[in-house]
Amino acid sequence: MTRQLFVTTALPYANGNFHIGHIMEYIQADIWVRFQKMMGRPVDFVCADDTHGAPIMIAAEKAGVTPQQFVAGIAAGRKQYLDGFHIGFDNWHSTDGPENHELARQIYRDLRDNPEGSLIETRVIEQFFDPEKNMFLPDRFIKGECPKCHAKDQYGDNCEVCGTVYAPTDLINPYSALSGVKPELKSSEHFFFKLSDPRCVAFLENWTQDGKLQPEVANKIKEWFTVRTNPDGSTSEGLGDWDISRDAPYFGIEIPDAPGKYFYVWLDAPIGYLASLKNLCTQRGMDYDAYMANPELKQYHFIGKDIVTFHTLFWPATLHFSGRKTPDNVFVHGFLTVHNGEKMSKSRGTGLDPLKYLSLGMNPEWLRYYLAAKLSARNEDIDFNADDFMSRVNSDLIGKFVNIASRAAGFLSKRFDGKLGVVPEDGAALLHQLRIERTSIEMMYEGREYAKALRETMLLADRVNAYVDANKPWDLAKQAGQEARLQGVCTVCIKAFRVLTCYLKPVLPELARQVETFLKIEPLSFANIGEPLDAGHVIGTYQHLMQRVDVKQLEALFEPPALIEPAQTATTTVADTKPGGEDIAPTISIEDFARIDLRIAKIVACQAVAGSTKLLQLTLDVGETDDAGQPKTRNVFSGIASCYQPEQLAGKLTVLVANLAPRKMKFGISDGMVLAASHADEKAQPGIYVLEPSAGARPGMRIH
Ligand SMILES: [Zn+2]
Repeated sequence: MTRQLFVTTALPYANGNFHIGHIMEYIQADIWVRFQKMMGRPVDFVCADDTHGAPIMIAAEKAGVTPQQFVAGIAAGRKQYLDGFHIGFDNWHSTDGPENHELARQIYRDLRDNPEGSLIETRVIEQFFDPEKNMFLPDRFIKGECPKCHAKDQYGDNCEVCGTVYAPTDLINPYSALSGVKPELKSSEHFFFKLSDPRCVAFLENWTQDGKLQPEVANKIKEWFTVRTNPDGSTSEGLGDWDISRDAPYFGIEIPDAPGKYFYVWLDAPIGYLASLKNLCTQRGMDYDAYMANPELKQYHFIGKDIVTFHTLFWPATLHFSGRKTPDNVFVHGFLTVHNGEKMSKSRGTGLDPLKYLSLGMNPEWLRYYLAAKLSARNEDIDFNADDFMSRVNSDLIGKFVNIASRAAGFLSKRFDGKLGVVPEDGAALLHQLRIERTSIEMMYEGREYAKALRETMLLADRVNAYVDANKPWDLAKQAGQEARLQGVCTVCIKAFRVLTCYLKPVLPELARQVETFLKIEPLSFANIGEPLDAGHVIGTYQHLMQRVDVKQLEALFEPPALIEPAQTATTTVADTKPGGEDIAPTISIEDFARIDLRIAKIVACQAVAGSTKLLQLTLDVGETDDAGQPKTRNVFSGIASCYQPEQLAGKLTVLVANLAPRKMKFGISDGMVLAASHADEKAQPGIYVLEPSAGARPGMRIH
């Protein structure tokens, strides 16, 4: 059996697009996976959408679509982010996939039927119930008056005004946030995972404290074994049992032998790691059970610090007591905060929108490099600072590293037909210094100490630049009889550049690919770094490898979206001689009009388009079904990005030209056109207004 790595990132909740925090986690894990692959280790790197739970069920209902349609709309938007930032998952799946339904039910049965005693028990609990919606209400969907400070409209779990934590039953005049009606207390049977069972406690005390976890994480967990906070704010001793069931209606997986009871989303979400892997095995024709039974299998999860409980208590206990392999480690990272500097403090946008970043033509590897330069193995928050970003990319990445190639390649191609020469003695010493750092840089990547690995690599780049400055190839080029010396010095630079590129390749995979093409070499790996490029090897023509960050791009990135207020334009000063700036079109017959099929469409999902500042991508429900009778959506691109943020449109109704011939665009097929109003003179009177029907209109209705 070969050593096999199974790596995941946390499953994103499928109620919205990725934000910069997701992208940071994926980049952190992707760097580690690429490093492992460069070490020649087999790795499977998977993720999935976390699709279940009340919030998604309610969001889908609001949007007038099924939960399945809702999460499909979200899933359709994932690829552009992942491809855009060179994040190389081997599989992206869904927790609503058949593998997850099957695995979750099997794991539950194994916990229930544990031969040393069941880990599942049922208890009757009292909970608020919405008689109009006919459902039990999650805490966040109950509102009322704070029992302490009497602030109105507070959530069921804590008061946002005075900070008091309480149970929903403590609220004064509680009401359902879904229907507005007064909820009733109703009892219901719930299923619990017995985390307080002495077997569980003993197992987890060992699993969390045996040295594998980050020390700061292990220390935090230690506290949970002695004292815990209850929903009503009081404290109890030791681990509490975990409520793993929810009553119908619930979008999730039905519990075996318990009709109308569903797994709480957090029970089946991490099982989605295994489901995505199993789905990958099926795609490859591999046996999942054999894969999991491999004693050389190592399982690692990258997660954020907000979901440590689920991954270090519930998840390993679920796996262990259902007779399954437990994770070999859980790597916890902090949050990313974004500061865009004093210069840009006027902008109100403090976030960093990853799609906007891409659509502005900013290089994804700048962000990969910058985040890597800040990431360590510790569970610490890191800060995105616009000025720091620009200086690290321009001064370090381009100034110190990329420039080495540009300084040497020109001479080699112009004077020596791109042929490498013999390395002089001083150059051989330098190359040796570079290569012997390999082991320590490998250890830094292995230990997720990316900031250290990049710092070390940049120190090596400094040495190469010092060598160039000492040997001055530009002077050698002017001196007669120095050809061999010039060729030798430039050869040292190219060989050094090759070594440095290898050290940076986990972070900069696309740049490394370009360098491999330019140098005409095999894909770089830590194993082949010592192989020499022989004298006589011919390299390709140098082409510019990377642009510098332009301050204008950063200003645009943090510029708040240009939302144009109506009636603030030139209308008051320039009198229109024509309505809307153009003459009414020639008369048509009613038959002509009838040829245009206008339908009400629901905007199920709306996304920015990477590479375009004009277009938004709309996923529309026009009430259509496919051949199998399943609901089907349409993809439409619309040039309205200057006036709308994607989240302003998702869930709204609009009007679609439904029988317009599909158009092939750069970003895909646009199947129809949504109606929007604008003035003929867009410059003088900017603004685009999407049409919205009156209440009561439903997807698919024709406009007559
Ligand atoms: Zn209060």
